[in-house]
Amino acid sequence: KMLKNEKGAILMKNFLSQLALGLEPYVPGEQPKDRKYVKLNTNENPYPPSEKVEAAIHGVAMDQLRLYPDPESTDLRVTIADYFNGLVDCESALLTANNVFMGNGSDEILAFVFPAFFTGRYIVFPNITYSFYPVYANLFQTEYREIPLLEDFSVRVEDYLNLASKGDLGADGILIPNPNAPTGRALSKAEIEQIVASNPEIVVAVDEAYIDFGGESVVDLVPKYDNLLVIHTLSKSRSLAGLRVGFAIGSDILIDGLNRVKNSFNSYTMDRIAMAGAKAAILDHDHFNENRNKIIATRERVVGRLEAMGFSVVPSKANFIFISHETKPAAELFYGLRELGILVRYFKKPLIDNHLRVSIGTDEEMDQFLKALASLI
Ligand code: PMP
Repeated sequence: KMLKNEKGAILMKNFLSQLALGLEPYVPGEQPKDRKYVKLNTNENPYPPSEKVEAAIHGVAMDQLRLYPDPESTDLRVTIADYFNGLVDCESALLTANNVFMGNGSDEILAFVFPAFFTGRYIVFPNITYSFYPVYANLFQTEYREIPLLEDFSVRVEDYLNLASKGDLGADGILIPNPNAPTGRALSKAEIEQIVASNPEIVVAVDEAYIDFGGESVVDLVPKYDNLLVIHTLSKSRSLAGLRVGFAIGSDILIDGLNRVKNSFNSYTMDRIAMAGAKAAILDHDHFNENRNKIIATRERVVGRLEAMGFSVVPSKANFIFISHETKPAAELFYGLRELGILVRYFKKPLIDNHLRVSIGTDEEMDQFLKALASLI
């Protein structure tokens, strides 16, 4: 409202920094309050978190909230290091808490990654990808060069390698979303390792937000490569988007870099409730496996149905699918689904504006989605 009148515009110019005035912030998917939608628009997990998370959160005594939390989240970092050590055959070097860095969601981890590693020459990431990457690049005034996706939405490893070494000095960072968003396509572990091994002097950050739905994680390569940082979240495969917990795994040098930024900004990143809930979630292996396996099975079933309906579906290793119809425009389907009470994501961007991104819900929700879609085509 303020902006509409002249006075508002003058005040904005007086008050806001040049930096703030120039920002084009990220716009998250809708979280509607007015109507109950089948919500397939923000890649949340349709199943509740582990019951052990509930118990752990209730176990935080009110009196503890009087006290600051452990600024280093040591207990949780040990739990996470042990969790990953338990997944690999441990002949090689093991992870310790010094290889783990905690944040309020992986968005916050990324917000620390930029000032810690990416304020020099330029960084490289794909176009299209998670739209927070260019937003952070603008906030931290980091130049970026984008790798165009191929027609099938894949990214070539050679393009990462070529773009990273362009110019006199080359990039000082590579950011790899794996699987990529909003396409769901993943690079293999061997491909990521090739990028990491070919660029030993720069930081390669791999955003594995969706890795648990069928991709190959590179966490076990961390002891081998000082320049590899792997970023995870509890928002997707552990159903905890509302708790805001993410973490990074990397060499102690990279974790030190992140801690320098964190302790210059907010040393008490993790609150007591989030730490308690996150620890219980990490420790509940059965719930985790059951939860992600259900989503993978639903995804595969829905893909088959969509293909039979004339949709093309980008091969997905994530908890969402990226689809387009042979004749019906995506925008039309988006608004039609919305009318019918089903929210999906539509990006009005070149290259992808004929696609919809659909998060995988429960089987019942996906049946509702398929039925609504059938009525629109
Ligand atoms: N990375 C990617 C690729 C994402 O899609 C998301 C979710 N929007 C995130 C990171 C951030 O997730 P969170 O902050 O909930 O951990």
